[in-house]
Amino acid sequence: MKNLLIIILFVFNITKIEAQIPSQEFDKVKMEYKGTKAVQAKLLMRHVEMWGKISEKEAKLDAAYLDLLISSIGITKEQIQKYLSFKNITNNEIGGDINSPISSVTAGGKKVFAKYFVIHDVSTPALEHNFPQDINEESWSFNNLDRWNKKVTHVYLARTGKSKTVADFSEGLRATKFELKKLGIPSRGLYIHIELIQPRVYPPGNAGNAPVAPKPGFTEAQYERLALLYICSSFRKGEWLVPAFHANIDQGLNDSHDDPQNFETQKFTDKVMQVLLDIKKY
Ligand SMILES: [Zn+2]
Repeated sequence: MKNLLIIILFVFNITKIEAQIPSQEFDKVKMEYKGTKAVQAKLLMRHVEMWGKISEKEAKLDAAYLDLLISSIGITKEQIQKYLSFKNITNNEIGGDINSPISSVTAGGKKVFAKYFVIHDVSTPALEHNFPQDINEESWSFNNLDRWNKKVTHVYLARTGKSKTVADFSEGLRATKFELKKLGIPSRGLYIHIELIQPRVYPPGNAGNAPVAPKPGFTEAQYERLALLYICSSFRKGEWLVPAFHANIDQGLNDSHDDPQNFETQKFTDKVMQVLLDIKKY
């Protein structure tokens, strides 16, 4: 019996060690999370369950995407510009001009460019009982980007795939508890933030914390534009950023958020590979 208890305690302890909390894995000298980019992405893209619960030990990420993370960008400025002009996409839709560098911080006395691409959902409006039929259409008023102006993110991305920049990627912003309460001003510029439009429903919960997200959580058009934003911000850095979910960044901190809900990492990484191939055709 005593041996069994020791075994149970041993197993429990191992479980505790494996369940890492990102804020505890952050190196303030290097201004980054511990480990390779692949290790960091697997930590920061763990699936976010309802109420912000995270039980996945590490995110299951596509092998080809993990290889990409440590590869060179592999596309030219001219190719991106031709792609954007062919698709009629303006700088205001992609976080600003790809010719200017992204935001930066100081780490170990040196200037380093943003390292993380943080994916959020706006978790609003909170609706009672069910979603309107047209949440993915132009007709749903929350897809009208004119109403999204608060500078708490770099870019807002509607369910129609349309996007709007409220802060250029060159501008440092802090949008998570971890940046605002733990790292403070020195972290301004380390994280690029994207808010995806996603409504919520209650009950359970109430109008103040409506936890139920649509399924699927986001549209194909949102994943495609998100992939382009990821490519453009990474191009401006000169290497691939590490993607992250807001809920993972703030895991374990008081009043942490539950976003994004119902995000499908495979859809995102597939779109990154696809858009990259499309750009290479130009
Ligand atoms: Zn968020």
